[in-house]
Amino acid sequence: MSNVESGPVPVRCASTADAGARPAGEPRVDVLTPRDVPLGGPRAMTVRRTLPQRARTLIGAWCFADHYGPDDVAGTGGMDVAPHPHIGLQTVSWLFSGEIEHRDSLGSHAYVRPGELNLMTGGHGISHSEVSTPRATVLHGVQLWVALPAEHRDTARDFRHYVPEPVTVDGGAATVSVFLGSLAGDGSPVRTFTPLLGAEVVLAPRATVELAVDGSFEHGLLVDRGEVRVGGTLLRSAELGYVHPGPDTLTLVNESDEPARTVLLGGAPFEEEIVMWWNFIGRSHEDIVRAREEWESASDRFGAVEGYEGDRLPAPALPNATITPRRNPARG
Ligand code: MN
Repeated sequence: MSNVESGPVPVRCASTADAGARPAGEPRVDVLTPRDVPLGGPRAMTVRRTLPQRARTLIGAWCFADHYGPDDVAGTGGMDVAPHPHIGLQTVSWLFSGEIEHRDSLGSHAYVRPGELNLMTGGHGISHSEVSTPRATVLHGVQLWVALPAEHRDTARDFRHYVPEPVTVDGGAATVSVFLGSLAGDGSPVRTFTPLLGAEVVLAPRATVELAVDGSFEHGLLVDRGEVRVGGTLLRSAELGYVHPGPDTLTLVNESDEPARTVLLGGAPFEEEIVMWWNFIGRSHEDIVRAREEWESASDRFGAVEGYEGDRLPAPALPNATITPRRNPARG
């Protein structure tokens, strides 16, 4: 997916925690609410973005979270994102329904399908296109980005496809599909550049499940469907609950009479400052200016996408001001 928000949002410290009301031993959870972002272009899909936002830039190395659908493709036209570049990040595509055709400048031609991980490493530079297929009548899923640490941000472009086997927890209280990292006794073989977790967790109606997690990680629970309590905090559909590091068990309660579907993200706190603009992650304004120039001049840095019908996406104009680094609010 291509980010259409060209203006970086100024980062301000904003404490959303209500630490005073939290019983001892209960995880500290901040509720991040989404904002609607139209993807633009001839197809008018709108996504719900929970990362980045003023109160939080990163959860582990997860730096971008778009949640979309269920979207009736007959009404909106679905997704058609022309070839566009990325640097310094990995893209994670995870669908609940529908199908997206992926092409990239490695020569990958793949289909993103429900329950299947597609992980693309931008590294020094890649370009790709994403188009929902005629087989997709309802498009529903998440598009996530992972920031690469400085020592690996210029790594070679790469593309991985992995299909996790869903794991049943507590006699059917939950079904867990681990696409990155480890959870519920299962682990993904897909390499990450920082310690990460990414899993779909589906809770049975009214079920409670306890998941052992890495206490040094921060976590984010994105609720797709249903209402889910984590610790003492109720999360509604489309909200992302940020769980501060500390607890080595997360207790999730489905407070609804239907199955609740969530995506659990986690990772070691990412302490580096990053500069995010359009589809690039760098460390300085100059990194962004150079990447933009190289995309506009069709440099080899990004390669070429074969087989996409239509023009590639031009980069938006740079802002007049220097793009400033962003990081998480100071921990308190
Ligand atoms: Mn993209």
